[in-house]
Amino acid sequence: MNERWDCIIVGGGAAGLSAALVLGRARKRTLLIDGEEQSNRPAHGIGGLLGHDGRPPAELYAAGRIELAAYPSVDGREGRVVGAAQGEGGFAVTMADGSVELTRRMILATGMDYRYPDLPGVAERWGRSVFHCPFCHGWEVRDRPLGVLDADPVTGTHRALLLTGWSADVTLLTNGPAALAGDAVRELFV
Ligand SMILES: Cc1cc2nc3c(=O)[nH]c(=O)nc-3n(C[C@H](O)[C@H](O)[C@H](O)COP(=O)(O)OP(=O)(O)OC[C@H]3O[C@@H](n4cnc5c(N)ncnc54)[C@H](O)[C@@H]3O)c2cc1C
Repeated sequence: MNERWDCIIVGGGAAGLSAALVLGRARKRTLLIDGEEQSNRPAHGIGGLLGHDGRPPAELYAAGRIELAAYPSVDGREGRVVGAAQGEGGFAVTMADGSVELTRRMILATGMDYRYPDLPGVAERWGRSVFHCPFCHGWEVRDRPLGVLDADPVTGTHRALLLTGWSADVTLLTNGPAALAGDAVRELFV
């Protein structure tokens, strides 16, 4: 435990790095702690981020860290935060290695918990040919046969129709006996 930081940022993805940049420019003593597991790392490229369209995610994070190096009040550390306790004047933040840092403020930029279906082959294809978001990756697979895996008749129909913007060859996979009926079938085959 050395000094009291103005801010500890937990998470060094796009959100955490951006926050660190702004705080560094404001000359705030900032510690960025990151587990290096940004959610989009498996993807070949970032889709739809202005100025970085198609750029490999790891490149963006490396560039972000280079930019941050220009700001002496910002420090970075690899590791996981496992706890934080509020006390007088701020927080005591505990890392997995047992070290504790004090800070006046915290920013939680820990990202989202993406869960893909527990099906053989999905884990190794996640972010490469199995995607969660057509706006991020639909362009790269445009005009190719696409499958939508969704057992819910309402969201499945919606997603299948949405994907027809990227490909005319879309198959809705209901993962079992036909979950589709009535309106859903009519919508899909109009
Ligand atoms: C496979 C995939 C591809 C994607 N592609 C795109 C795309 O092309 N375009 C787009 O706009 N969006 C895309 N997204 C969504 C995109 O990842 C997010 O919108 C954005 O990058 C999230 O940034 P973030 O900083 O909030 O979180 P993340 O990038 O997930 O970063 C969170 C960071 O916090 C760290 N962390 C979490 N808990 C702790 C802890 N306790 N201690 C220390 N560190 C911790 C993690 O290790 C991680 O490094 C994609 C998502 C996925 C899953």
